[in-house]
Amino acid sequence: MSMTAASASAAHSAIRLFELDRQRARLRHEFDKRIAAVLDHGQFILGPEVDELEASLASFAGVRHAIGVSSGRDALIMSLMAHGIGPGDGVLVPAFTFSATAAVVVSVGASPVFVDVCEDTMNMNVDAIGSAVAAAHADGLRPRAIMPVDLFGRPADYAAIAVAADAHGLAVIADAAQSFGAAIGDTNVGALAPITCVSFYPTKPLGAFGDGGAILTDDDALAESVRLIRTHGRQGEGDEALRIGMTGRLDTIQAAVLLAKMPVFRAELRRRAEIAAHYNAHLSDLCGLPVADDTVRSAWALYTVKIPGGRDARDAVRTRLAEDGIGTGLFYRVPLPRHAAFACFRREATPVADRLADRVLSLPIGPDVTDAEAARVVDALRAAV
Ligand SMILES: *Cc1c(COP(=O)(O)O)cnc(C)c1O
Repeated sequence: MSMTAASASAAHSAIRLFELDRQRARLRHEFDKRIAAVLDHGQFILGPEVDELEASLASFAGVRHAIGVSSGRDALIMSLMAHGIGPGDGVLVPAFTFSATAAVVVSVGASPVFVDVCEDTMNMNVDAIGSAVAAAHADGLRPRAIMPVDLFGRPADYAAIAVAADAHGLAVIADAAQSFGAAIGDTNVGALAPITCVSFYPTKPLGAFGDGGAILTDDDALAESVRLIRTHGRQGEGDEALRIGMTGRLDTIQAAVLLAKMPVFRAELRRRAEIAAHYNAHLSDLCGLPVADDTVRSAWALYTVKIPGGRDARDAVRTRLAEDGIGTGLFYRVPLPRHAAFACFRREATPVADRLADRVLSLPIGPDVTDAEAARVVDALRAAV
């Protein structure tokens, strides 16, 4: 191949938003070993790998309990069930997040109460909690909990949320589906809230080869409740249902996959942060960047910029990048209060969420994105904006 043909082909090789194949190849030997061990012992439900992973997750996060569960969504549902939240109750959720954050509230019979987000962090606006609580009361709901989301991997403002939660007598259930591995100061996700829900969906920073999740907590009673709920409300060998539960366990095979990833997870987080730093350094004149912060360390599940102009300008940039072979994502193009599924719930104005939905664009980030690829994304975005 001539030089020009080689560079032309490099210029056209695709850069995907989520590059999962390279990690699979890099760690293939570990996956094979770990999965083979499960096939050998045959304990597919709550096998030894689940215990080993739970110990590893708890130690990584610095919490007493990690409970492997069937998905991030189920982690949230089981946490709501453990708090006894149900019909007539209101749960505060950010207006700008994945639909599951509000759907789980509906799944237990309660009502989501939408709270607008901050323009810079894109996380729940703590100053709007008071009026959301008042709106819940006005609708005849009992406000019971706040469910902050660590959007794109950046932890919410848990210190301020704890103050607001105490003031209004609310529980805090963290939707950390995107942020396992993140921290505020020396406190890791898992220890930032009384109960924290993580997802191991394949594209999350720590991803399985299927669905999975975990609940992290320091609270012995909550941990005990969640363990019961995870196994049909049954304890040990007993077949009596002590409370209403679900089929909420993490599969042993998924635990084995995650155990193969744990030894490299810290290095992968550092690589994600390096890519983010590269983007931060080269894109500041082009678009709105994720806030850089000395104390808040994101897990960089996604690197999401705000394209000036609005929906049409953003979509045009996305098309130009696609023509250059660069995959991007729109998380999220519709704020939750505007989803058809939530049409029956009160819709307060959430102007910041509305504005973000028209401007956000997520760029490729991950442990296996190369320096050359990050540079190509920057060049392509420069040409496109
Ligand atoms: C991915 C995600 C979930 C759901 O996790 P699953 O494991 O896919 O069920 C919930 N909330 C947020 C914010 C997410 O990003």
